Amino acid sequence: MAEGYESPKDWLGQVKGSAADAKKIHDAANKQRRAAETIPKILSVKDIQNGKWDADRTLMTTLGGVLREITQEDLKAFKENIKTVKDNFTGGMTAQQIINHSQQIDRERASKQITMATPVSASKGTVRFITNAGGETKGVHRHHVTVEFLRYESEASSADTNKKQAANRLRNSPLKIDCDCGRFRFWYSYIASIGGFKLGTQESGFPKIRNAKLNGVGCKHLLRVMQEIRTGGAITMFLAKQMEKGKAHDENKAASYTSQKEAEKITKSQAKRTSDKHAVKIKAAIEKARKENPKETKKKAYGTKAAKPNPRATDPHAQMRLMLKQMGQTDAQIEAMIAASIAAQGK
Ligand SMILES: [Zn+2]
Repeated sequence: MAEGYESPKDWLGQVKGSAADAKKIHDAANKQRRAAETIPKILSVKDIQNGKWDADRTLMTTLGGVLREITQEDLKAFKENIKTVKDNFTGGMTAQQIINHSQQIDRERASKQITMATPVSASKGTVRFITNAGGETKGVHRHHVTVEFLRYESEASSADTNKKQAANRLRNSPLKIDCDCGRFRFWYSYIASIGGFKLGTQESGFPKIRNAKLNGVGCKHLLRVMQEIRTGGAITMFLAKQMEKGKAHDENKAASYTSQKEAEKITKSQAKRTSDKHAVKIKAAIEKARKENPKETKKKAYGTKAAKPNPRATDPHAQMRLMLKQMGQTDAQIEAMIAASIAAQGK
């Protein structure tokens, strides 16, 4: 495995206990979200539909590329963007459709940085996957992606007894999705909520700063899992096992767990499958970076392994800077946004 990438040991961790880990992350996110509601900075669907909000609430947007105050025209644009999402996504989203509607940047990150996605547990038609984190946040090695196969119940109760065929039909049927990373939470969970394919807690706050155009649907972790669902392999076996339990009409036993040994076996075979392709891609990226900017080769090729000390330790806005940079904002725009955010917090 190339330098700068997490080894499977780092991110897979212990499968046993990973459900508790997933729950802890989920609860922390919910707590943070509830705390945010007391700060009147969230723009709700109601605000957008009504076309007004309290005059003492200064709301900002980056629609148009620069951070500024929201106008009535923006509300109309937001309303239009919501309508587009609703028009495009009604009737459920399959793994293929989620990939098709995602942003190019997330698809690229999924194929470059997320080497493995392993189904670790299931309850009826809801399957939890662990993926490697992709190395953008220090200390975070893995993420939990949860997928509900919406046709599970109807497949389980159908007279057709071929569980493998049923599993394959499920792979191509509509899903509900969730990932516990920040990219999904802050960019896409609102889109998935209004599109009717967000699993779990629904997000009602319009992403006016991060994704006012409502582009894309999934983070790199989710997209890697969608790829896994689309192409089959371990997930087909996993779903077939679930189907067998479902068809036996034993509701209490309609749960599956992947043992540590099985999980490691799956990740090993995935690593084998992706490593050649992966090595070629990394090599090409390094070459390209070397040509474009000889001094920055290491940073560009590996993303997170900059030679400099971690700036986040001293700069409280490093995370925001990094995020805005990834959104394609210029340095001047980023500084303006941070200044505005400091001012807003001071109020
Ligand atoms: Zn994610």
